[in-house]
Amino acid sequence: MGKVYCIVGNGVAGDAAASVIKERDPKSEVIVFTEEGKALYNRILLKEFAKGKLNQNSVDIRDEDWYLNRGIDIRLNTQIIRIDSENKIIEVNKGDHQKYDQVLVATGGTPRELNVPNSGAEGIHHFWTMRDTIGIRNHAETASFGAIIGAGLLGIDLAAICGAHGVESKYIMRGDVWWRNALSNVGGEIIHKSLRDKNVLPVFNKEIECFEERRGKVQAVVTTDGERHEADFVGVAVGLDYNIELIQNTGVEYRNGIVVDEHMFTGVEGIYAAGDIARYHDVIIGEELQNGSWGSAKKQGMVAGENMVKGRDYKKFEWIPSYSITHFKYPIISFGHPTEGEKFLEKKYSENEWRRLAFKHGRLIGGVLIGDVSSQSRYKKIITERVEQVDQEMSILDKKIDLEKIVVKKA
Ligand SMILES: Cc1cc2nc3c(=O)[nH]c(=O)nc-3n(C[C@H](O)[C@H](O)[C@H](O)COP(=O)(O)OP(=O)(O)OC[C@H]3O[C@@H](n4cnc5c(N)ncnc54)[C@H](O)[C@@H]3O)c2cc1C
Repeated sequence: MGKVYCIVGNGVAGDAAASVIKERDPKSEVIVFTEEGKALYNRILLKEFAKGKLNQNSVDIRDEDWYLNRGIDIRLNTQIIRIDSENKIIEVNKGDHQKYDQVLVATGGTPRELNVPNSGAEGIHHFWTMRDTIGIRNHAETASFGAIIGAGLLGIDLAAICGAHGVESKYIMRGDVWWRNALSNVGGEIIHKSLRDKNVLPVFNKEIECFEERRGKVQAVVTTDGERHEADFVGVAVGLDYNIELIQNTGVEYRNGIVVDEHMFTGVEGIYAAGDIARYHDVIIGEELQNGSWGSAKKQGMVAGENMVKGRDYKKFEWIPSYSITHFKYPIISFGHPTEGEKFLEKKYSENEWRRLAFKHGRLIGGVLIGDVSSQSRYKKIITERVEQVDQEMSILDKKIDLEKIVVKKA
């Protein structure tokens, strides 16, 4: 009998792990559990589907047959409620149990609700799944006034969706700049202007007091200073709650994410974690980090899969994430860990071209590029090579400098 590998979650991390495991250990039994009713699809493209620019089929990646043809057992609409780490059994919501040799927790997160009155009113949307997206698209097609809450990467997707459907909207933010931990006011203003051009008006320095509703439907957003913003469509993107119920009492450590080493191993025999939920030891930056991006989740799933088959420290996760935003007439890329810096340097080159680099302990660790994103791979190389550039920091913002030549002095 081959080994039994269980994968909880069929996002990109779980899918990548399942594929690698079956390739490396063809005689094994690989079972993928997902509480969604659909096999892996492309979450990155959901925003384009919601804008009306893609049809639903373009977002699909796998169907059930893809797994079955490879001998992978996929169980849709199946939630795992508990892992019994002592007996190596997982408990399925339908009352079944499944023995495992190795299990991967790749359960990601669920968008957090705002804890204010009427936050469950009809017309208030969260954005994560295909089901959410269908609701968002259908509603945005007919809505009159929108309000988006949450100045981050998912919030701006919701704002762009309202813009694409011509919904006159307010984008309500806590601070005075969009994605304030990664951008400055100068860089943020480029984005704010483009939002205004789409009829999405940024509203700064506000906290939400409550939603107004009539007959169960949202009517307006009220802020703590008494302002009322009429909205029959509301998008809330204020962070994720990680799906960790199943690891209670397993001994797996949790610190706003499942703590794993650079091999995606939790430290508890047979249990690995990967993707958005994993708080991993980053060997490049030398710290515990977490990342919510597609490429990173996929790579972590692959590393976890390798190690589940070949031994817990066979492969290391070594990766610089990036995240692109394509809502405007110019590209935006965030790379590395731009919100983790201790020191920031920035430069504006033209109306829609700006860069900001984040440094920690004298090393580049990430940045955001607006307009010209062509230097992304050079900056990533500087991070990967752990270059100490204390006396060269400003020069790496100079477009005339050959960034290849910066890669000389390693930490
Ligand atoms: C709208 C949107 C746009 C995005 N845009 C970008 C982008 O442009 N670029 C980028 O890099 N990243 C983007 N991301 C982020 C990226 O999609 C995620 O980082 C990535 O999908 C995370 O993959 P994952 O496998 O860790 O988790 P998920 O994709 O969240 O998958 C986890 C799965 O586990 C299931 N699950 C949870 N608990 C259980 C349980 N107990 N039992 C069974 N199943 C369970 C969930 O239902 C889910 O299907 C976007 C995300 C969203 C939602």
